[in-house]
Amino acid sequence: MSQRCDLSVLEELTSNAKQIQDDVLTKILKSSANTEYLSRFLEGSSEKELFKKNVPVVSYEDVKPYIDRIANGEPSDILSGEPITAFILSSGTSSGNQKMFPRNNNFENIKFAAALSSLVISKHVHGYKQGKVMIFSFTQPLSTTPCGLPLAPATTILLKSKNYRSPAKNSTSPDEIILCTDAKQSMYCQLLCGLVQRDEIVSVGAPFASLLVQVIHFLGNYWKELCSNIRSGHVSEWITDLSCRDSVSMIVGEPNLELADLIENECGQESWQGIISRLWPKTKCIEAIVTGTMAQYIPALEFYSNKLPLVSRTYASSEAFFGINVNPLSKPQHVSYTFLPNMSYFEFIDVDGDGEIVDLVNVKLGGYYEPLVTNYSGLHRCRVGDVLQVTGFYNNTPQFRFARRKNTVLSVYVEPTTEEDLLNALTSATLALESSDLILTGFTCYADVSTVPGHYVFYLELKAKVNNSTGELPLDNKLLVECCCVMEESLTSIYRHFRAKDGFIGALEIRVVEQGTFDSLMEYYFFVSRGASITQYKTPICINSVEASRVLEDKVLARFFSDKSPTI
Ligand code: AMP
Repeated sequence: MSQRCDLSVLEELTSNAKQIQDDVLTKILKSSANTEYLSRFLEGSSEKELFKKNVPVVSYEDVKPYIDRIANGEPSDILSGEPITAFILSSGTSSGNQKMFPRNNNFENIKFAAALSSLVISKHVHGYKQGKVMIFSFTQPLSTTPCGLPLAPATTILLKSKNYRSPAKNSTSPDEIILCTDAKQSMYCQLLCGLVQRDEIVSVGAPFASLLVQVIHFLGNYWKELCSNIRSGHVSEWITDLSCRDSVSMIVGEPNLELADLIENECGQESWQGIISRLWPKTKCIEAIVTGTMAQYIPALEFYSNKLPLVSRTYASSEAFFGINVNPLSKPQHVSYTFLPNMSYFEFIDVDGDGEIVDLVNVKLGGYYEPLVTNYSGLHRCRVGDVLQVTGFYNNTPQFRFARRKNTVLSVYVEPTTEEDLLNALTSATLALESSDLILTGFTCYADVSTVPGHYVFYLELKAKVNNSTGELPLDNKLLVECCCVMEESLTSIYRHFRAKDGFIGALEIRVVEQGTFDSLMEYYFFVSRGASITQYKTPICINSVEASRVLEDKVLARFFSDKSPTI
């Protein structure tokens, strides 16, 4: 049964969050209390109080044995009251391990949340509804678990499900192109569709900012070929996926010399500043998540779009859909997500205090919490591993800023540097580079403990704002050394103390890597994870595998060190 979806529903949901959360938990317990997993703690009771008292807070690893048993053919009701019909693979790039989550085939909630978020955007972005959106999205080939259930990243499972119809009826790319599992053919065709329909497009985007930056790089490599296809009205022969080829050919239509010249002229200019707005002049916003580790792509997207509003629509994971951004035009650093209380049952561990667990409506303004998910497909009080900060309330429902992934820390001595600290360093680097001729297009770091004392190494991929004829990057020693210094200044007082006073930490280093290095890093992660999706990929803010650092090391162009101690 589909749910009503208009903006008044958002008011109703957020005004009655407590009741709705109670109802969600009751429903889940009614269907799952007799599972092997829960009956150990509840003995068949669906009492909410007993659930909170007896059911333990767990991590993925604790539930994994049950998940594996279902994947191997045991009935779903050992874990979930609702039948498990598929398994979704998490990206694994944020936590380091790829996880496999059970999933039922009810996508009503997700469809509802996506539709609600689109309504919110139409309300704030004038003319959004009247135009088309070019949102890059990809699917992976489905694999199967030993018992034959489909296994793939969430977007793939969703897009391929019979119960799910593409919500973006106003999308420039037909489903056939998005469902093509060859990412290169699909990306090429999505761009071709978008270029041909350039005058109708009001929004350009991708689920995550990193993917959109990657698409622009791809466009940088293929624009001449795309233009030649438009000029001749004939799609390149290497597009061999038949349904993709047929549907893109229909859209390309007759030869269009004028359009090909126009695009060639824009792409052939020395600087790609504002290329998105130049190629798609009616674009009103860029839809891509730019919070969390995605913040590193803000400068690149602002550059390519001439500072169009960057809209981070949703906060979701393989465990659950959490919330939507009800102020889509807020600046990236002010983005908060309003939780939708009908999605799953949510609890929150106070990560700064005594670890107390509270309900959605009982979180405190300013507090830092890790969400726990109890969902309809077998997760009960499962830790998500994200840390969120409460920034306000929409009616009775809290709004959260994404602070960081938990436990992703860098440390060369005993200083605990969190992902959020690293993001502060990233912001400082971005500011330091702002007035220069360079923009940051990739960022990650690691703790180099092969030197004594150990030190922080930041890998930066930089791009010249204006392409020069030699293709060389104008690396200014003074600017990059200064960049190292401001990054150190932005790290925690504990870091600065150990670095400046005790000498337990060595000078911070920047290693500038060749262009395309972060694409290689992504390829490396796909290689190891086999089956991750580029739609879900998140550049790790920090790397800790020797192999991943080798990918970067091979591409280092220059090194710079901070030349003074930070203040303490
Ligand atoms: P996955 O399960 O692979 O899709 O990854 C989910 C994870 O991506 C979440 O737990 C977050 O760490 C991250 N993530 C998802 N949405 C956002 C967002 N809007 N802002 C920041 N991080 C996000």
